This record gives sequence, structure tokens and C-alpha cells, in this order.
Amino acid sequence: MHILSMADLPIKGKRILMRVDFNVPVDDRGNVTDDTRITAVIPSIKYILEKGGCVILMSHFGRPKGSFSKEFSLVPVAEYLEKLIGIKIKFASDCIGSEAKRLAEALRPGEVLLLENLRFHQAEEHPDKDPEFAKQLAGLGDCYINEAFGACHRTHASVVDIVRYFPGAAAAGFLLQKEIRFLSETLTDPKRPFYAIIGGAKISSKLGVLKALLGKVDALFIGGGMAYTFYRAEGIEIGDSLFEKDLIPEAAEILQTAKSKGVPLFLPIDNVIADKISPEASIRTVPVAAGIPKGESGADIGPETIELFTEKLQNAKTILWNGPLGVFEIEAFSKGTKAIAEAITKTPAVTIVGGGDSIAAIRATGYADKITHISTGGGATLEYLEYGTLPGIDALANSDRG
Ligand code: AMP
Repeated sequence: MHILSMADLPIKGKRILMRVDFNVPVDDRGNVTDDTRITAVIPSIKYILEKGGCVILMSHFGRPKGSFSKEFSLVPVAEYLEKLIGIKIKFASDCIGSEAKRLAEALRPGEVLLLENLRFHQAEEHPDKDPEFAKQLAGLGDCYINEAFGACHRTHASVVDIVRYFPGAAAAGFLLQKEIRFLSETLTDPKRPFYAIIGGAKISSKLGVLKALLGKVDALFIGGGMAYTFYRAEGIEIGDSLFEKDLIPEAAEILQTAKSKGVPLFLPIDNVIADKISPEASIRTVPVAAGIPKGESGADIGPETIELFTEKLQNAKTILWNGPLGVFEIEAFSKGTKAIAEAITKTPAVTIVGGGDSIAAIRATGYADKITHISTGGGATLEYLEYGTLPGIDALANSDRG
């Protein structure tokens, strides 16, 4: 598969349209709480500016479902980027249309324009609804760079469809290249034992990946909200814990597949439970066998699970981790995630942590510096592992014939 690098593109005097992933976590007041995805593309932006080009940045942010909503505006991200990079960031209040066109055309070398959230248009996520959308975006730049690894598993307009308008002028950014290189080197033929730790809120978003992982890993460790659907599949009482009723059969199937393949699948053996998911909650620890009573819900893995997971992870050579093991945003429920973060950094393994919440969780533990590779992609990392490529990468591979 041959993909152009941004280093192959003519930059001087050109308008470089760059798809980035500024889908960063924010708090209730809209403040950026983890800027990994922003800082990660700054070297590429600076490279273009230094080479005498100008940059038009485009990104999605949250899930606004195809129409404008202030909550999902990229304005706070523009302000954040401006402080970080130290130059004025121009802003277009719509990613296509006359204002975006005018601002893009007026850009001078050394200048940066950020377009408003791509997902304010339905056609970003559903390109068939309006093929003109990708064409209009493409019309803003002379060259296209994909620097949004975290969005490469999506067949979205700004990731896939747009590429066809840049024959011989669509390339992978430095960050995207680094992600692909690292993941293919470490995950295509991983050093074994290879373990995956999967947590986070729901099974639904990680179902395909959980199944795929069973064919690749030497053991699977599950925690976080998704564990409770597995418990339900085993007939264990989970009280008011988060779970996905429709996915109980799928969870049962995963447990069965693990058994038949002989892949150890570890679920938490005890849980920190609470009367509410809040810093003021009254909390206690219960073994799984006791069940979780009505009126209480599981919010973190318990100390015995920490001990079990830590011991089992000891001999790992490769560890992939996606999704926190509890509601890590609240101190009282962050112990499991923190303890496992510490545990994996003490193993001799190559450690890969991916995804927005996972990055925030690992940073909150203070162990981020000791992780071998923090990937900007969550779902993208997992799907790369599942398929060995991603739609956004394939699109670039097919576009290098100028
Ligand atoms: P994901 O994006 O699927 O990786 O999910 C991350 C979210 O899962 C975080 O915001 C956590 O607070 C949440 N989470 C983890 N464990 C639990 C749990 N036991 N109950 C509810 N939410 C959880």
C-alpha cells in the first residue's frame, strides 16, 4: 500500500486543507480537559507554515447530529489552539459556504483558518445525502492532508469522499504516519503474551472489536460499565448498574467464544458500588457473587480485581488498553483505573493506550509518560487491529496517482 506523505506535497504558496481530530474532552463549562489531540498535530501545522503554506483545519466535535448547536461549536478549541500555537487562528462559522470560501481564499502564507464543526452538516457522516458537501470542502484547498487518525475508521465525507478531489495531492500527515507505523509494527505481529484491557461505558461501541480481539490476544481483561452486561449474561444481579439489555445475547456469545477458543477472559471479581454516581455517594465494595442490590450501581473495579488483574498482567509483552475501568472522572471511582495504569507500566510490555477518554484517564493517573504509545485514536486503534487497515487510510492509498 503506497501512501503519499505530507513531506511529498508542494507546500509553498499552497492552501493546505488538513483534516484533524479536535474532538477533545471538555468539562461542563466547555474547557478543554485533555489537549493531546491538539498538541499532537502542532508540529504538522508548523511545518506547513514554515514551508510557506497556509493551513485550513477541519474537524468534527462531539455528536451534534447534522445541525448547529452551540454546545458543539469549535470556537473554544480555536481559542485554545491560538494560545497554544501563539498565532491568530481565523475562524469560519460554517465549514462550507461563502464565508468559508472567502476566508480560505484570503489566507496568506503563514496563516491558519479553522472551520466550524463538520458534523453540523449531515453529509459529513452520511456523504450520500449530499455529495456536493465533500466537493465544497475540497474546493477550499489545493492539497489535502489527513492528520485525523482518530476519525480514519469512519467513512465520512472529510475522511474518505474528499480524497477523490485531490488526485496526487492527498497525503498522510506526520501524526497519521506515526500512528500507522507504530500500530502495524506492534500489533500486526505482537510480542506475546499479548493482552487487551477493555473498559469504558458500553459494549455496543466495542462489540466487533471484542470479537476480533478474541482471535488475537492471549487473554482479555474487561472492566468499566461494559462488565455489567456480561454479568447479566451470567445471571448475576447488577442492581442499577449501567447495562445494555439488547446486548446480553452478544455478551453471552463472547463469553462462550472465549471459552471455546481457550482465551482467558477476566471479568472483575469485586466491585466498588455506590448509591449514586456522584462524589457525594455512599460507597462500599462487594464481591461479584453477592450481586449488586437495587438502588446501587457498580462504579469501579474492587481491590481483589486489581490484585488479580495485576498478577495476571505481570508477564505481558504487549498490552493494549482502551476504556477506563471505572467512572474515573470521580476520585472515589478512579482507583481501579489508576492501579491498573501503574500495574501495566511495571510490566516489561510494550503498552498502547488509545482513545479520548482513555487518554484523559491515563493522564489523570499520572502514568502517561510511562506508556510506550498513547494513540490519538480509540475506535480507530481497535478497528485497525480488527481489519489491518482503515477506510481513511485506504482512501489515501488509492489516491496517489496524480
Ligand atoms: P468509552 O468512551 O466507552 O471508553 O467510555 C468512557 C466512559 O465510561 C467514562 O466517561 C467513564 O466514566 C465511563 N465508565 C467507566 N466505568 C463505568 C461504570 N462502571 N459505570 C458507568 N460509566 C462508566
